[in-house]
Amino acid sequence: MEFWISVQNGLVARASFITDGCASSVACGSMATTLAQGKSVGETAALQQQDILKALEGFPADHEHCALLAVNTLKAACADFLKGREISASDQTADTKSTPCETCGKQDCSASHRRQGESDKDFEERQKLQSRLCRIRHKIVVLSGKGGVGKSTVAVTIATALTMLGKRVGLLDIDIHGPSIPTLLGLEGKPINDSEQGLLPVELGAMKVMSLGFLLKSPDDAVIWRGPMKMGVIKQFLKDTVWGDLDYLIVDSPPGTGDEPLSVCQLIGTLDGAVIVTTPQKVAAVDVRKSITFCRQLKVPILGVVENMSGFVCPKCGEVTQILPSGGGRTIADDMKVPFLGAIPIDPKIAEAGDRGQAFIECYSSTPTAEIMRAVIEPICKLR
Ligand code: ADP
Repeated sequence: MEFWISVQNGLVARASFITDGCASSVACGSMATTLAQGKSVGETAALQQQDILKALEGFPADHEHCALLAVNTLKAACADFLKGREISASDQTADTKSTPCETCGKQDCSASHRRQGESDKDFEERQKLQSRLCRIRHKIVVLSGKGGVGKSTVAVTIATALTMLGKRVGLLDIDIHGPSIPTLLGLEGKPINDSEQGLLPVELGAMKVMSLGFLLKSPDDAVIWRGPMKMGVIKQFLKDTVWGDLDYLIVDSPPGTGDEPLSVCQLIGTLDGAVIVTTPQKVAAVDVRKSITFCRQLKVPILGVVENMSGFVCPKCGEVTQILPSGGGRTIADDMKVPFLGAIPIDPKIAEAGDRGQAFIECYSSTPTAEIMRAVIEPICKLR
């Protein structure tokens, strides 16, 4: 594990870390960075193992040593800083509180103004996040009521199709419980590198990919993070990833309508909208309704509902058979007056391409299913 701190006006403005350890060490490292921010270097160096364990609420006893490792490594970074041998640390004395957004420089940018009651730390973090997001033209979140409905597949399809159209695309996977983007794109085991500007995404051709999966030592690692850890990791990913200038950022959100998708939508703030993925059966209907209501409450525009796994494409003749009831997605979309983007059939080649780590829409681009996919995502590719 290794930590970097960046200090402004004597306070830790940003702490980041890398580890090649288990999910628990990632969680402890992440919590240590959260606890350090806004504190003086001395206070940061004084953080104790118990502070991390307390913040993580009920961390498993056999992994408590990861918290000790995190505080000791963080202490070492503070000691280096205090000795004037800072590692990637710079003491910037500029007062950022009253400066406009670093990126767009616009006075009306939300990052230019402190919100009522916002602490120094929260304001600085929001400015940092906003200065990254200002460089991204369109931000789209892919949601689903539950896991396993093809949310990540749809996110990969949208990102790949946009890349094929020559757009600069980022794909961010913050599905904590099943970060499957590295598998679907053949990027398992790729390391995340840190830089002075932040975490560098993995590049796949013209696409930049960042996934929580890159932090897990093995794809079999169980993610046991509790609420505050999850929020810390999601926030760090959004705030610290160096996307540069992008036309589109596609965010593969955790499923459901709980705290995690809520923080994603709130942190990103100005989203172009959400794509909601569902399956055709009636049991999925309740979840889609919840997802639609969730977006409405958060004032996130709904780009549309995609009904995935709708009918089965025969691998021999290509005929589509309705093996399960279909039309659930359309019915709900009509009912709740949101756009229905279309239905993607079950095509064994989609699963096969995903298992091989390739995007179906790219490697089977001339099949009827790829044609259907292009029609489904057309409104997204045409966002102005
Ligand atoms: P989620 O993100 O909702 O958990 P995934 O996108 O990871 O779901 O998909 C789960 C599995 O289903 C993956 O193996 C994927 O390749 C497969 N899959 C998704 N959509 C289809 C489809 N239309 N036809 C066949 N397999 C699919």
